[in-house]
Amino acid sequence: MSLPAATGAAFRQVFGEPPAGVWAAPGRINLIGEHTDYNDGFALPMALPQTTVVAVRPRTDGLLRLHSTRGDGRVTVLDTEALAPGAADGWARYPAGVLWALREAGHPVGGLDLHVDSTVPAGAGLSSSAALECAVALACDDLHTLGLPRTELAGLAQRAENAFAGVPCGIMDQIASLCCTEGAALHLDSRSLALRQVPFDLAAEGLGLLVIDTRVSHDLGDGAYAALRAGCERAAGLLGLPALRDLPPGDLPPALGALPPELVPLVRHVVTENARVGEAVALLSAGRAADLGPVLTAGHASLRDDYRVSCPETDLAVSAALAAGALGARMTGGGFGGSVIALTPAEAAGTVTRAVTGAFARAGHRPPAVLRATAAPGAHRAAPAG
Ligand code: ADP
Ligand code: MG
Repeated sequence: MSLPAATGAAFRQVFGEPPAGVWAAPGRINLIGEHTDYNDGFALPMALPQTTVVAVRPRTDGLLRLHSTRGDGRVTVLDTEALAPGAADGWARYPAGVLWALREAGHPVGGLDLHVDSTVPAGAGLSSSAALECAVALACDDLHTLGLPRTELAGLAQRAENAFAGVPCGIMDQIASLCCTEGAALHLDSRSLALRQVPFDLAAEGLGLLVIDTRVSHDLGDGAYAALRAGCERAAGLLGLPALRDLPPGDLPPALGALPPELVPLVRHVVTENARVGEAVALLSAGRAADLGPVLTAGHASLRDDYRVSCPETDLAVSAALAAGALGARMTGGGFGGSVIALTPAEAAGTVTRAVTGAFARAGHRPPAVLRATAAPGAHRAAPAG
């Protein structure tokens, strides 16, 4: 049975009635452009075939009843009228936060029953949180015929994560889950929310793209993310700029000379990373996807040495992949663990997978989980049968 069909059937088991519909939203990787979205900059994500699926049925009594195959088996019951940051905890913060954000924005969204299932690994830097938010946001938009543009739904989903789940993330994950299209990477301008689909057909180019989930998540992530974001905002303020996106690469040397030393590596990462997104888009547009490799690897070095959000496991996955013939590799997502992407010649994908797995075993790390990525569709209403 397909995941949407299984999710619909499970909904019926939990709530005793069939759902009104089933919606799916994908996880994502980011090819390049990390920690740039909250600096008003650029990113180049693509959707993964792994999705989060929600089966939903509206209620007329204002109750929000939530159930997930990844939960503790219980149904969480909340009152939509009483939703406010702090009113929910655990995983319920993500779907409840989306309803809260929609209602805060004045949209007439009432109660509902919701069951969730997913193939997006949680906490792996592949954005299972945004996949969940975006599936719920699209379901509400469809069920209540709100007709909201996807970029607006992404903003509301981001608000749910910021205000309700307490994670100060930028907008890239939600835009990726809602706006990516099959066979393309998505060029995102985080300031204007201008989007451009950049064709990325790995198979036609003779390439493979591995996603190596290191299966580690270092706890310092949460506070460190907020501190990095605050550092970038302080640097922009000191330079008299609205955001670091407004610093052209050519102005970097004098700007770095004017900043306190602790902000220098942050600014250097953000400015060079924005430039790498431009390089990557130019290469893809010129049909030179194989030449992306060095851009990805340079991005990893910048995250490791300047932004300092990599960790021994992600660094090892990158170095082992490169030594085994990957064309380029980098951590993807916020960092402090999570996943690494490796671009390989198609025929080298197996060799690279074995090399990384072997290197992890020798270092005494848990075996990584390795997925093969293709550029999959963004969020959509799913056919519940089949
Ligand atoms: P990432 O987004 O990288 O996967 P996060 O820590 O941002 O990592 O989000 C993971 C959290 O999202 C989980 O701890 C859980 O609370 C929630 N979540 C994700 N997928 C599901 C799901 N299918 N069911 C319930 N909660 C989920
Ligand atoms: Mg997340």
